Amino acid sequence: MQNKTRQEGRTVQMNIITKNPKTLLNKGSGFLSDYSHSLNPYTGCSFGCSYCYVRQMPVSLFRGQEWGTWVDIKNGASDILRKELRRSKAKGKVTIFMSSSTDPYQPIEYQAKVTRSLLEVMVEDPPDFLLVQTRSPLVRRDIDILQQLGNKVRVSMTVETDLDEVRKHFSPYAPPIQARLRTLQDLAHANIPTQAAIAPLLPSSSDFARKLKPLVNRVCVDDYFMGDGSGGKRTRNLNISSLYKQLDLEAWYHPEAYRMVYDRFVSEFQENQVYVSQAGFAP
Ligand code: SF4
Repeated sequence: MQNKTRQEGRTVQMNIITKNPKTLLNKGSGFLSDYSHSLNPYTGCSFGCSYCYVRQMPVSLFRGQEWGTWVDIKNGASDILRKELRRSKAKGKVTIFMSSSTDPYQPIEYQAKVTRSLLEVMVEDPPDFLLVQTRSPLVRRDIDILQQLGNKVRVSMTVETDLDEVRKHFSPYAPPIQARLRTLQDLAHANIPTQAAIAPLLPSSSDFARKLKPLVNRVCVDDYFMGDGSGGKRTRNLNISSLYKQLDLEAWYHPEAYRMVYDRFVSEFQENQVYVSQAGFAP
């Protein structure tokens, strides 16, 4: 299926196909070793963020198509998850990170509803914990299901910066920052546990923490150097530094830059509400 998606004033030709996977749950490892499993409703991601290190992974390298221009829809995902969940729960604690290499609420989810079908399965047979990692306001559509998971779920909304001009520079096809902030507010009103994931942190204003304070009581700060699973090497290979140069903000592309953002947040939030890197994503 060819699908034209209008993003930031450009029409991008997306290649969207349906695949029949055999399995769905992957063992949590590396950065996700606090989780028993990771879960990706799709392969590929139409947000195509410039810094996305999945570009460097075999799933993208062997595809022969530019990252961000293709998505595979996982057909029959809910039936597979139902079986795998039952089997995994019989063996022990099941904690799920959704998603590690795609956004579960990218635009195709409006129609395909794979993520929603997986949440429905998890309401029937709840895992011990589910983290939903997204940067999309579409997560609001599923508030009714997320509420049924009570405190077994946390929605982690990526908010890399408070400056939408910076967001446009690094991830022009991802949702605007204001829409993400409104989504955090709606989730909080619905009593769904949330956090803001400043990950990877991008150049931001000194007001960033103050803007997030009324919306969340948990924040995670992460950067390429701690969070890309290779000490920043994967991101370096993407030549991300040139994007900082174009903005004349090279000082932000540094392993110590997170400290300034961290300090700004601990001056607004309580220290135990501000997490760094992997600890912030843990169950
Ligand atoms: S939303 Fe996540 S998975 Fe998708 S391109 Fe951006 S960083 Fe990669």
